[in-house]
Amino acid sequence: MAAKTRLVSVLGSTGSIGINTLDVIARHPDRFEVYALAAHSSVDSMLAQCLAFAPRYAVMMDEAAATLLRQRLPAGFPTQVRHGESGLAYIVTAPEVDVVMAAIVGAAGLPSTLAAARAGKTLLLANKEALVMGGHLLMQAVREAGARLLPIDSEHNAIFQCVPVNARAAPELRGVSKVLLTASGGPFRRWSLAQMTDATPDQACAHPNWSMGRKISVDSASLMNKGLELIEACWIFDLAPAQVDVVVHPQSIIHSMVRYVDGSVLAQLGNPDMRTAIAYGLGWPERLASGVAPLDLVTTARLDFEAPDETRFPCLRLAREAVVTGGTAMAVCNAANEVAVAAFLDEKIRFTDIPAVIEYTLERVDIVEPTSLSVVEDAVVQAREFAHGFLADLQHPTMAVKRV
Ligand code: NAD
Ligand code: MG
Repeated sequence: MAAKTRLVSVLGSTGSIGINTLDVIARHPDRFEVYALAAHSSVDSMLAQCLAFAPRYAVMMDEAAATLLRQRLPAGFPTQVRHGESGLAYIVTAPEVDVVMAAIVGAAGLPSTLAAARAGKTLLLANKEALVMGGHLLMQAVREAGARLLPIDSEHNAIFQCVPVNARAAPELRGVSKVLLTASGGPFRRWSLAQMTDATPDQACAHPNWSMGRKISVDSASLMNKGLELIEACWIFDLAPAQVDVVVHPQSIIHSMVRYVDGSVLAQLGNPDMRTAIAYGLGWPERLASGVAPLDLVTTARLDFEAPDETRFPCLRLAREAVVTGGTAMAVCNAANEVAVAAFLDEKIRFTDIPAVIEYTLERVDIVEPTSLSVVEDAVVQAREFAHGFLADLQHPTMAVKRV
């Protein structure tokens, strides 16, 4: 019997993960129907996606962008255009929706991701910042509403694939002793701190193996991405921070590993292409064709490993400290990082200022128990204020000269 067609809402559809998700969906028109698409303000991309997939709804965060999209869709086209948080809330909670791909970048994705979990949907989670900030709330919502969380971040997807029995059981019942998160090391793996001081946004975004949005690319260059992923792994797999090790693996062929108490280490391998993880999430528990080229081990030839250097990459240490502190420390760490990365991409601060902004902010915001979304949001507002205040104090008179 043919499987039922599943209705999918893709949040962040015009971004790197969104585009890859639609690529996989387009390969399986008999299994998936795009129910809704959502993005911030890129009308041209959204228009093209609407014409290709004819979703029932298109949501633009920006109201003016929604108006423009409405005007540009052909007369009588079946897609209804909505805007803002209420539009997002509608397309993740509508009863017809089976699957929500949460691929908005940054803290902005938390309310819609949480709403999808509370509505008991199958949640394909790419938006790691939502989990880093609101892990306690999100995991509680998943449990209480009976939602199914399938990790899309390639490392967590790999771990999920290597924990086959019952992903929800406690680590000791699964026999897991450690999770080994692999990191490419990013474009600055071999750079000295002095060289990193002068790194430009384009250099930071030139990832050696993966093609991604600019925010996550900068996070990969600073290793904050691995720090956020460490926190993400603790929440998804119910692990203590000490059970997660980071291993630098420059080829990005092993996407992560799980070590068991009997000495076995299971790894998931593949070419660095997010469509594998996305297809696994969409098809789970079945495997779907994704368009990813088969891995050629002979051409790959080598798999190298080294320890991360937390002196040159202090963001990894800061994230580890935040998860050990617990409470709203992770939300504060993430918020300060978002402010710092945006300022770096805007050429207002240096690459090496990013950890300084985070450390300054973490030292100043009071850390409390994240009992509700508003408590988390308050911590984020405070963190953003301290981080912005620190940015104003960072004086780099040479930067303007250098970067014109
Ligand atoms: P991106 O910058 O390419 O795309 C972001 C998307 O979010 C765009 O569609 C944008 O319009 C939308 N968006 C931004 N702000 C929004 C808002 N306020 N409201 C609604 N939509 C908004 O980012 P990306 O690289 O696709 O990453 C998306 C998420 O997935 C991030 O959390 C990232 O950490 C995670 N992730 C990405 C990759 C990857 O390979 N790109 C891998 C693992 C995890
Ligand atoms: Mg990742």
